Amino acid sequence: MTQECIFCKIINGEIPAKKIFENDKVLAFLDIFPMSQGHTVIIPKKHFNHFENVDSSTIAEVFNTIQYLGRFYLKIPSIEGFNVLVNNYSAAGQVIEHFHVHLIPRKTNDGIISHKIPKEQASEEELNEFLEIFSKIKN
Ligand SMILES: [Zn+2]
Repeated sequence: MTQECIFCKIINGEIPAKKIFENDKVLAFLDIFPMSQGHTVIIPKKHFNHFENVDSSTIAEVFNTIQYLGRFYLKIPSIEGFNVLVNNYSAAGQVIEHFHVHLIPRKTNDGIISHKIPKEQASEEELNEFLEIFSKIKN
């Protein structure tokens, strides 16, 4: 836990939240800036800053909770699907540096998140370029 972390404060009860699920490892609560009704934030109770630093059992707990909630959410008539989203580092839109996952209920054509597939297919060279970058880093 870090002193300034808003999510740690929610876990400690210093800041109120609309809790939807809680166990000893994980807390899920409604996002106060929802992208859709039921937009939920799932956090480990232990403070981790970024995705790649979270231990595997905690990752499992978080994603098991998302599955558990998602199954119920899909029984709600207005929810036809959902996105599971991690913003990791500010470049990717992470605002609070306590690892968290967004569960965002969706309806057909709601236009909330559009991830259009680019019209142009990558060239062989473009794909190979990244494979090379990655293999240099890895070795
Ligand atoms: Zn925290």
